[in-house]
Amino acid sequence: MSRAGFVAVLGRPNVGKSTFVNRLVGQKVSIVSDKPQTTRNRILAVVNRPGGQLVLFDTPGIHKPLHRMNQRMVETAVRSLEQVDAALWIVDVKQGYGPGDRYVSDLLKRSGKPLVLGLNKIDAVPKPRILPLIDTYRRMLAFEDIVPLSALSGENVELVGERLLALLPEGPPLFPEEYLTDLPERFFVAEIVREKVVQFTRDEIPYTTGVVIESFEEGEALVRIEATIFVERGGHKGILIGSKGEMLKRIGSAARHEIEAFLGTKLFLGLFVKVRPNWREDPQLLEQMGLGRRG
Ligand code: GDP
Ligand code: MG
Repeated sequence: MSRAGFVAVLGRPNVGKSTFVNRLVGQKVSIVSDKPQTTRNRILAVVNRPGGQLVLFDTPGIHKPLHRMNQRMVETAVRSLEQVDAALWIVDVKQGYGPGDRYVSDLLKRSGKPLVLGLNKIDAVPKPRILPLIDTYRRMLAFEDIVPLSALSGENVELVGERLLALLPEGPPLFPEEYLTDLPERFFVAEIVREKVVQFTRDEIPYTTGVVIESFEEGEALVRIEATIFVERGGHKGILIGSKGEMLKRIGSAARHEIEAFLGTKLFLGLFVKVRPNWREDPQLLEQMGLGRRG
């Protein structure tokens, strides 16, 4: 039985989120993206285990100093939490319980998602200091698990991964096994567009569309994405565009709303439709769709 799903990794700055992710990912450190973030919901890493696949998200909404956290950011964080199957809250046992923790805990409670608490940096404090902390946090929230760990030494890192995986739905991997880099974000956006195509065209164009993200530019206040929807027949193109372009507009608008919620930012979405018989046999297109590079 295999599981797969999205996990939000949250916590205050410097608690060890990146270190944890690097550890869990192992050698493929390059996956971790430390780019400045205009988008608020970046995939950190895809972690494959015999039991399934964890897709880890950063949630910068809670990275910010909490006293400056306004209502909109709270909403953004709540929205990003809606997209995941489980959440990992990492705290730093050196810092201990802090003023921002109540805030984070309220957010997590509102999300209703299954939660794991990671008490990180246990290598840096004497053991007796850890137990009272476990008690403090346990009283705040119902965690599925509380795991003391050291992201630095690696102690219990794998265990945290196992506990998270157990909270994910059963199902096949969400990304190809060898998936690297920050491309999953593009992949996800393409999937949303494709989902809307299927949703609005019903059975008329079942599994014969593919979406390629042609450009993905992050601006200050806006992300610009241009995507091409490939279909196999001219008739399909007609259906997709609809009379006076109405269908494509509906697809674009629905996709845009969902992608905006996913990225936590305003979006310009340009959609194009191209006819390409047998696109599914085209290795270059498959690669662009994130479906190549297997084996
Ligand atoms: P992030 O801001 O939450 O992503 O935190 P980072 O992963 O960048 O880590 C912040 C600092 O904490 C770095 O100096 C890490 O080396 C250190 N750190 C992370 N995990 C541990 C740990 O388990 N033990 C100790 N002693 N330090 C850690
Ligand atoms: Mg970090």
